[in-house]
Amino acid sequence: GERALVNVPEAIETVLALIQHKLGDRIVVERTFHGRAEIHCTPALLNQVVMNILGNAADAMPGGGTIRIDTRSTEDLDEIRISDTGPGIPETLREKIFEPFFTTKPVGSGTGLGLAIAYSVVQAHSGSLTVETAPGGGACFVIGIPRQAASV
Ligand code: ADP
Ligand code: MG
Repeated sequence: GERALVNVPEAIETVLALIQHKLGDRIVVERTFHGRAEIHCTPALLNQVVMNILGNAADAMPGGGTIRIDTRSTEDLDEIRISDTGPGIPETLREKIFEPFFTTKPVGSGTGLGLAIAYSVVQAHSGSLTVETAPGGGACFVIGIPRQAASV
């Protein structure tokens, strides 16, 4: 698709509205938007990436919890960090979760494609998608889009 300068907070709010039914009242969403918060990308694809990561965070916290979304920009990089207060991802699974069809969800409830799609979309934007441990032990997904490559 066509790339455009996408306002990240707006894109995130759009996705949150779309998945509100999945978050319900049990999941609190905290946002901190720092920096330029604009990314050169294909808008629908960025939404897809954020949607897949937020959907997983909701799945990881069936009893409720908090999703934190932070954006920050440096001279060469725009970053979106999405963390949750779920159980986190064991070290041994951290490579596997980005592979197509890898899922730990019951048959019929997970395709195992969400993160594989997110990874290839971010790669197509010359960016990186990594996972860290959030403070408290949950998962923290970090989307990084380089400013140079992104503005091509
Ligand atoms: P699916 O959601 O269909 O299982 P994904 O590719 O979206 O496929 O995710 C793959 C796997 O990564 C999940 O099944 C789960 O084991 C793990 N995972 C992804 N996000 C999280 C998260 N926020 N917390 C814990 N585990 C996660
Ligand atoms: Mg998923």
